[in-house]
Amino acid sequence: MALADHPRIPLTFGPSPLHPLDRLTAHLGGARIWAKREDCNSGLAFGGNKVRKLEYLAADAVATGCDTLVSIGGVQSNHTRSVAAVAAYLGLKCALVQESWVDWPDSVYDKVGNVQLSRLLGATSRFVKAGFGIGIKESYQQVLTEVDLAGGKPYPIPAGASDHPLGGLGFARWAAELLEQERAAGVRFDTVVVATGTGSTQAGMVAGFAALGERRRVIGVDITAKPVETLAAVRRIAHRTATLLDTEITDDVILDERYHAGTYGIPDEETLSAMRLAARTEALITDPVYEGKSMAALIDLVGTGEIARTDTVLFAHLGGQPALNGYSAVV
Ligand code: PLP
Repeated sequence: MALADHPRIPLTFGPSPLHPLDRLTAHLGGARIWAKREDCNSGLAFGGNKVRKLEYLAADAVATGCDTLVSIGGVQSNHTRSVAAVAAYLGLKCALVQESWVDWPDSVYDKVGNVQLSRLLGATSRFVKAGFGIGIKESYQQVLTEVDLAGGKPYPIPAGASDHPLGGLGFARWAAELLEQERAAGVRFDTVVVATGTGSTQAGMVAGFAALGERRRVIGVDITAKPVETLAAVRRIAHRTATLLDTEITDDVILDERYHAGTYGIPDEETLSAMRLAARTEALITDPVYEGKSMAALIDLVGTGEIARTDTVLFAHLGGQPALNGYSAVV
């Protein structure tokens, strides 16, 4: 089935902004760097990559008569905040499981940022002690059962909206949108650099480019510090999404595991210095969990020449700034 035939509820402003990063490019003295900005893609609670993915899941939830979106993530999950936002926007209820993915000393870590926004959006949050992982958790099953027993109709959305049949479609659409923007701007990106966590952002891009017959290098930057599982997830979701689009993935998935700083959710000096450089050259704000790490990768790959000086590179900015408030100890 063609991408355009998959039901979708528009939740973004339209195509996300695409623009050159001239001062960062000049500073690095290498490849030409641009950004495509999912961090300002929607008016729904600061937007981000999840809002784009949820356009397809929300259509399914509404079509199947569900009244409660149920999802799971870390305390500072951007994803759960986006699910809460989409539920509010569509007049649905929202029940979240918030796990203690990151052991972080900032005393307000579990009170501000994403979790605060979800509260404001009217979602209920259940706090659970559990580490990072994208598998199906008992706490999540329990909330689904409780919604059911209370007479509601839950719509289950796994972590990051990734391990869901429709999870890759949002970023397959991103690939098609990018091609149109490239034509209008007279530019072509050889390489895309993207932070990879639960996997469906990168997987969707890979499937989307395959469906369009476009061969692009999509470098996923592992931020989970569990690259074996992450790579398997990206491959699985890319193939599943390709099948939905009647196409096949021929190139292998690229996942760079050098920039996760050892632990999900904790930055190292390289992450922090990349965040400072992006902020001080471009006023481009990144977070220590996701785009700080993919920005560190981009800077290093240009510096070492792994991204050639002649390349035109796209930094996919996926959002994540609301979590910054929980990191005042280092930023
Ligand atoms: N960047 C931000 C800001 C995110 O919230 C996420 C979500 O996990 C990612 C990158 C990674 O995206 P994905 O989980 O689809 O791999």
